[in-house]
Amino acid sequence: MNVIASSVRRALASLPAVLLSAAAAADVPAAPAAVTAIKAAHMVDVRKGTVIDDAVVLVSGERITAAGSKLAIPAGATVIDLGDKTLLPGLIDSHTHLTADPQDAGYAIVAKSIPRSTLTGAKNARLTLHAGFTTVRDVGADGYTDIGLRDAINDGDVPGPRIAASGPAMGITGGHCDDTVHAPQYGITGLGVADGVEEALKVTRRNIKYGSDVIKICATGGVLSFGDDPRTSQYTLEELKAIIGDAHRLGRKAAAHAHGGEGIRLAVLAGVDSIEHGSYIDDEGIKLMKEHKTWLVPTLYLGDWLIENAEAIKLPKPLLEKARVVLPQARINIGRAIKAGVPVAFGTDAAVYPHGLNAREFAVLVKLGMTPAQALRTATVNASELLGWSDRIGTLEAGKFADMIAVDGEPLKDVTVLERVRWVMKGGAVVR
Ligand SMILES: [Zn+2]
Repeated sequence: MNVIASSVRRALASLPAVLLSAAAAADVPAAPAAVTAIKAAHMVDVRKGTVIDDAVVLVSGERITAAGSKLAIPAGATVIDLGDKTLLPGLIDSHTHLTADPQDAGYAIVAKSIPRSTLTGAKNARLTLHAGFTTVRDVGADGYTDIGLRDAINDGDVPGPRIAASGPAMGITGGHCDDTVHAPQYGITGLGVADGVEEALKVTRRNIKYGSDVIKICATGGVLSFGDDPRTSQYTLEELKAIIGDAHRLGRKAAAHAHGGEGIRLAVLAGVDSIEHGSYIDDEGIKLMKEHKTWLVPTLYLGDWLIENAEAIKLPKPLLEKARVVLPQARINIGRAIKAGVPVAFGTDAAVYPHGLNAREFAVLVKLGMTPAQALRTATVNASELLGWSDRIGTLEAGKFADMIAVDGEPLKDVTVLERVRWVMKGGAVVR
């Protein structure tokens, strides 16, 4: 016993101090983190919108240590050679609902339990990660299912993207984020419902208490809810200022679901970080969002899928009628906002359509006037800034998480290649 103990002590004594403390904690001497070198014929510099040839990314542990063209590969490194593929940073979707599926729209949700929704989330987290989205911002989930899912992924229990989660979306009684399915005799109110400044502060703080990274607010009516109009505002300026001010004071961002022009204007004036959907954005909204540098998160591809599949998912008629009016109008108005230079971060509202198809949004952005490089920037650099995570994700640069994907073809010429991601790494581990 003593001989072993003293030889361990001698071995420890020869280690540098940093390793020594780590070794003491784990009871075994820590080996230096192994280096992995990822090689590919091409790599997109998403900041510049250019392609680098003979790309090498060096990874140690969870992080990138170097990235560039023809970098020397350290002796003993594990080499992953991706041949003639193109490397890009892992994609970021700023608007998902991982714990919901298209079939949950309308009446079906009444029969679905919170534990069942959480498991829906586990399925969708894996699909999303395999589609190349290594980070999502999940904005609105009943029963804190998104927060449970985020924690399970962070604990390594289930595979999935990094998640900035909101928990239950906040809204007014009878608004888009209330429970509008049940008849009055059931007395059911959405968990995020809060009316007036006092209640709004209480629910903001409760969400943060239970783990919200971001506060989601319903500032206007919506499409997939009963009895409300997407064009009308819901929260007042006073309520919005209270929620957003408190969220910021407590170190959280705030995202506002807003279709109508009035709700967009109020949320921007109250200091919100992003406008989700923005379907009826007008000249004043465009001007205000540029002045305040508020991110627009358009969610446009969903219109195609929803209207085509309305029957298959048994979408109730009043919701389909709203979708038919709002969604084509949104493309026209968002197109104007993009051309006017409103800052855009990528989002999809996946859940309205099947998770894993998120990259179909890129082609819509290009159709509305973005270059492929601009569209790609929305899902990397821009989205990382919106999340407040630009120090850790969004580009392939030293110090950031080794979150990256590889595709065939040239994404700066044809964004649809992003719909067929061939290889995915998250935090230095190959996940696909
Ligand atoms: Zn949504």
